Amino acid sequence: MAEETIFSKIIRKEIPAEILYQDDLVTAFRDINPAAPSHILIIPNKLIPTAADVESEDEVTLGRLFIVARKLAEQEGIAESGYRLIVNCKQDGRQEVYHLHMHLLGGRDMGFMVNRKP
Ligand code: AMP
Repeated sequence: MAEETIFSKIIRKEIPAEILYQDDLVTAFRDINPAAPSHILIIPNKLIPTAADVESEDEVTLGRLFIVARKLAEQEGIAESGYRLIVNCKQDGRQEVYHLHMHLLGGRDMGFMVNRKP
């Protein structure tokens, strides 16, 4: 069994977060340390630690992350100008919280996709 993170507590509303959307499969809330004018995390309610742990049974949930990202981007007013969706995976991906999450970032030019060097 994977260990719960702070994100499980956010899903269960045991700790405060600015939750923008929640349904039976996913929860979306504002990142506590925003890297852009709009910085939202969209996460599965089920604890999937990393992108390396996804299973075929998660297909609908993972699809939902994109649908919710699209709707929130519209709500944030960044659908037209564009945005970036990021999923960091494990150490080299610089994942900090081991509960799979999609970052939705926008509201400014997000720059080049990755640095050439760390
Ligand atoms: P990652 O590096 O992809 O694992 O990103 C983890 C993200 O979670 C970071 O952008 C953090 O700012 C964010 N974060 C950590 N704790 C919280 C929290 N309690 N509420 C909202 N965002 C958080």
